[in-house]
Amino acid sequence: MVQAYWQTDIMYLKGVGPKRAELLFAELGIRTYWDLLQHYPRRHVDRSQVRSIASLQEEGEAVSLIGHLEQLEIVQAGRKRLQATLADGSGRLQLSWFEGVRYLSQRYKLGDEVALFGKVSFYKGQPQLVHPEMEPLKDEEHGTLNTLKIVPIYPGTEKLKRAGLDSRGLRRLVYQLLLQAPDIPDPLPPLLVQGQQLSSRNEALRSLHFPPSPQALQLARDRLKFEELFLFEWVLAHRKQLREQQAQAVCFSEIGTYFNTYYTQHLPFELTGAQKRVLKEIRRDVGRPIQMNRLVQGDVGSGKTIVALMASLMALDNGYQVAVMAPTEILAEQHYRSFSQGLAPLGIRVGFLSGSVKAAERSVLLADLAAGHIQVLIGTHALIETGVRFRQLGLTVIDEQHKFGVEQRNQLWQKGAAPHVPHNLALTATPIPRTLAMTAYGDIEVSVIDELPPGRKPITTVLRNNQNRLRMLGFIHEQLAEGRQAYVVYPLVDESAKSDLLAAEQGYAFLQQYFKDYRVGLVHGRLPAGTKEEEMQKFKANRTQVLVSTTVIEVGVDVPNANLMVIENAERFGLSQLHQLRGRVGRGAAQSFCILMAGRWPLGKEARYRLNALCSTQDGFRIAELDLKQRGPGDFLGTRQSGLPTFRLADLTEDLPLLKQARKAAFDLQAQDPDLSQEAHQALASFLKTYIRQHQLDQLKF
Ligand code: ADP
Ligand code: MG
Repeated sequence: MVQAYWQTDIMYLKGVGPKRAELLFAELGIRTYWDLLQHYPRRHVDRSQVRSIASLQEEGEAVSLIGHLEQLEIVQAGRKRLQATLADGSGRLQLSWFEGVRYLSQRYKLGDEVALFGKVSFYKGQPQLVHPEMEPLKDEEHGTLNTLKIVPIYPGTEKLKRAGLDSRGLRRLVYQLLLQAPDIPDPLPPLLVQGQQLSSRNEALRSLHFPPSPQALQLARDRLKFEELFLFEWVLAHRKQLREQQAQAVCFSEIGTYFNTYYTQHLPFELTGAQKRVLKEIRRDVGRPIQMNRLVQGDVGSGKTIVALMASLMALDNGYQVAVMAPTEILAEQHYRSFSQGLAPLGIRVGFLSGSVKAAERSVLLADLAAGHIQVLIGTHALIETGVRFRQLGLTVIDEQHKFGVEQRNQLWQKGAAPHVPHNLALTATPIPRTLAMTAYGDIEVSVIDELPPGRKPITTVLRNNQNRLRMLGFIHEQLAEGRQAYVVYPLVDESAKSDLLAAEQGYAFLQQYFKDYRVGLVHGRLPAGTKEEEMQKFKANRTQVLVSTTVIEVGVDVPNANLMVIENAERFGLSQLHQLRGRVGRGAAQSFCILMAGRWPLGKEARYRLNALCSTQDGFRIAELDLKQRGPGDFLGTRQSGLPTFRLADLTEDLPLLKQARKAAFDLQAQDPDLSQEAHQALASFLKTYIRQHQLDQLKF
């Protein structure tokens, strides 16, 4: 598909040869003409504004000049150099070169009109350029003047530099390459290119290296970004289609007694508008024999549980069972409590399964499950073990799905009511920036609960340090005296890190001493599940007033009377994590507070930015976007194998409009010509094959 020209060994390009070719390959992986073209500039410098010599004032300023050479001589005194004078009608200026002296003196003669680019320095009050780039103004050989253009700056290495292939050297090669190059074919269908008002690939790639104007550069970048995003979105669209075709899903055709009874008689509160909207979206999905794969995204406390519960009723009404899987025991237990409480009045049997369920109990449970007596099974990843068999699994609810691997999710799906696959509802409290929702989670439908239940007061968040410790303790005391409860959280980056655990234990010992009239509890991940649970229950029942913990309370804990959270060494947490922790308070009627205690002072720049961001906003989406900006997609998603290809130009922190455009175009095309069998789509089809192979997108990774 790429013509022979582009497959030519780089060695044959004028100015390269075998030695440089070897170096280009070793340093930059450039083996062919095409590879060189794909070595994108890191940035550009605009040299198109020509200045007059008389206007030069600033030391170090990079300028373009045009003039003629008045004096030109090789000076032998000291280090050998070529010295010249440039005159442009407004004034004169000294030029000197210490390298390439012979070449330059042979190429240029007195009176030549030249273009120059260089950095101004002043010597005895007079401007001069040392080692400027110079070109004849009328360059017949090249027909162009790099000097007066917007020029590309290429990334490179020290070794290349020493071989004369610095940015300037690379620029010459790319220039040479494009000079003789045939047009570059376009894999995007002509109708699409026109419809989206994109420039052609040929134009874009040429302009990306040598843009005739800033506008042209912008157009080139947009076109190439669009292409990157479009290709990936097409893969997502295709994958979604395959998934939907491969297996028919169960279909919940009716809304029955369970749902209606719950809705009219047992709903503990009025649903928010957002909850109602999301339920409608789910209802629409599950009423079709196409697998639902929907992610419900809602800030902590936005009320996702009831949505999951009511979606479960839709399954139960149609005779299907439900599996609810959560990443931690505590979270699974909490779901178990919510579901049991909510469903008990309807006579629905809910079971719990985790690694800590005893063998005898477990075998009874599994038998009941297989017989269909247990209608909803809630638990940890223990749910995916082979012994777990459902009679008619119709819906999986996976909380914090990103904490599970795709493999695990698929294993759960395989327990579905064969030959049909179950519908899937994923929940997450980590707001995902929209760009990621459209890429990393791109073949999933996303619902957003963007409204908190009524009566929630904003949480007051402040940043403090050790000098404020006594006041902080005094403040906890005040809140306790008013009958409130408090969390004190210590970072535990690694569950096995002894020193972190020690900090929490010491904090616990100290607070026990300090708040003699109150009870202080401690939970951390190393405690046996039963003890952990007991401590949580004590806090919930207000038998302890202060709960010292590591991050195990990050997910799922709901204690409305706790209105104060102190986070120790807050700088060690990531933005999203802090936001989630903070979401544990602000659930009751009282004003809530979050005190971020800096463990170091002053804080580093990044930490300060993070903690200040947290103090200034409580909008989970805003925080997620900031977090994405700071950490980048790979780290944000917490896993390198998120399945995202690396985009070379597109930037997921900024290119939302372009991404939306590309996604729509890709999904539209997929709907119109699913197998790309139309004549106009042949080029795209073969290009995609290479693309998928290169980016290893052939496996269902997410
Ligand atoms: P999360 O989205 O963090 O899982 P939960 O489902 O745990 O949130 O809900 C948080 C709290 O808000 C719970 O105590 C729940 O009962 C309550 N809640 C949920 N929806 C509403 C609502 N519409 N009105 C009032 N309270 C609600
Ligand atoms: Mg929850």
